[in-house]
Amino acid sequence: MTSCLFCRIIAGEIPGTLLHQDADLVAFSDINPQAPLHALIVPRRHIATLNDLTGMDDALVGSMVRFAAELAKQHGYDERGYRTVFNCNREAGQTVFHIHLHLLAGRGLHWPPG
Ligand code: AMP
Ligand code: ZN
Repeated sequence: MTSCLFCRIIAGEIPGTLLHQDADLVAFSDINPQAPLHALIVPRRHIATLNDLTGMDDALVGSMVRFAAELAKQHGYDERGYRTVFNCNREAGQTVFHIHLHLLAGRGLHWPPG
């Protein structure tokens, strides 16, 4: 059994509030939401950090970004605005080492981020 939290959610071993799934991607609600909409868009395949991506993953990462835009639109935030974030490693605050794209929307978001 894998020890990766997101692999376990994807496998259905740990419950998650699923928003979408297809052959390559799963999206679920963040358990500790930082905005009215806080979704995590996660590839089914385990990739620990952005540093592990190769050119073979370009289409996969592109589909993650495009799906974030689609989800924002489905929730009515495409015109108001939304933020997408990949955290990579410790100083950026990565805590789950299976890449995920945060989608945050529904409130004014500060810049620069903390
Ligand atoms: P990061 O800090 O970029 O690695 O983001 C990890 C995110 O996963 C955080 O925003 C957590 O709130 C979220 N998280 C942790 N455990 C769970 C869980 N069981 N279900 C959904 N989201 C989770
Ligand atoms: Zn994983």
